Amino acid sequence: MSCAQPVTNETAALTLDADWVVTMAGPPIRKGRVVVEDGRVAAVGPAGEVRARGEHRRLGEAILMPGLINAHCHLELSAYHGALPPGDLWRWLGQLVMLRLRPDAAARERAAIPAAVRSMLETGTTCVGDISRSDWLPGLLEGQPIRKVCYIELISGAMSPPANMAQLRQRLGALRADDPLLTRAISPHAPYTVTREDLVACAALAAQADLPLAIHLAETVEEIEWLRRGTGRIQQWHAHLFQDPPRSPSCGATEYVLASGICRGRSALIHMNHADDWRRLAEISAQDRPAVVYCPRSHAFFDHAAHPFRGMLEAGIAVAIGTDSAASHGHDESHPLSVLEELCWLYRHQPDILPETLLRMGTVHGAAALGLADQIGRIAIGYQADLASFEMPRSDLPDPLTGLLETPLPPSFTCVAGQVTCAAHPDKTLSHNPDRIPIPPK
Ligand SMILES: [Zn+2]
Repeated sequence: MSCAQPVTNETAALTLDADWVVTMAGPPIRKGRVVVEDGRVAAVGPAGEVRARGEHRRLGEAILMPGLINAHCHLELSAYHGALPPGDLWRWLGQLVMLRLRPDAAARERAAIPAAVRSMLETGTTCVGDISRSDWLPGLLEGQPIRKVCYIELISGAMSPPANMAQLRQRLGALRADDPLLTRAISPHAPYTVTREDLVACAALAAQADLPLAIHLAETVEEIEWLRRGTGRIQQWHAHLFQDPPRSPSCGATEYVLASGICRGRSALIHMNHADDWRRLAEISAQDRPAVVYCPRSHAFFDHAAHPFRGMLEAGIAVAIGTDSAASHGHDESHPLSVLEELCWLYRHQPDILPETLLRMGTVHGAAALGLADQIGRIAIGYQADLASFEMPRSDLPDPLTGLLETPLPPSFTCVAGQVTCAAHPDKTLSHNPDRIPIPPK
């Protein structure tokens, strides 16, 4: 069935029973019940202790949990899934730019959005943090039945807007606020494409208007070389393309963004693959500490060195899961924007990580990265009823999450703000996606 539109519109009470309710706010509840009213969680607990209200759905041998959160994505690139070979990021970027210069690129990019949203909902993702420079994308996302944090991306001096703070503010103001599932946000692209003055101004704007902020940081070794010494590939690139390029701060990545004022809880540092000074984050108070976003499969696509996310988690840093764009996923990955598949990939490659830790990355930490920690990511009274239910492939496992990560199935039920978006079990597995847009040969 299609998940593009809600299949119900009721705001009345809804009661959900499942063999396991994983709240992420306490231990899993055996034979649990969640009551939803007006789009929010009104009650949660053992079924025998919580009174049912309104429509009553019995999900049976299933895990009911918070909807998964994709903390980093570029939906505008969804049309390029499988179009580019894995390997060096800079070569990939050059090839992507060429693809986007094709005359039909804008139409193809627009056409791919509904299927991308549907694919996320069909794999249990109920919220996405999307970074875009396209003025058409937030409008296309408005009204889509997925929660979205729309980051408007700034590149200082870019040929297309937003290229300065005035254009960023103008684009932000143009975002209509009548979609209750849409949160406005800003993203200075990266230290090497945004001047220090604009970075400081973005941090100030985010603090003053209480906007989520995200920045790509320490993605490549070349970026670290430029940050610390002002030399290398990025310096040469600046000389070719920028009239007034950002200046190297001659320090580490983390130190630079913290000194620019990006040190508040609603901020996300995307990637941090090569941040040799990430431990600076642990020195900040937990409520002001930015989250880190790790994109496991995209990270592997670019063959980056091992990500320090395990040390970060041990140091108390919230590490969320992102997918990055579909363009950094191969043809063989049928759901490039699926957080569940990212978690399963991590589980396969690092099987000693506890399933609960992985699920926390895909829910609680994702909510923190998107500045919605008090709204989503947990099943708790007053939280948004963004929920996903997965049938349990095996009933003999001591931990209900193990089966989910070993044998991922499509969700049997998904709702966003209490509105049901997927209610039937699609007759397909996660390895089959008939909706993917074919890419023409280069
Ligand atoms: Zn990105």
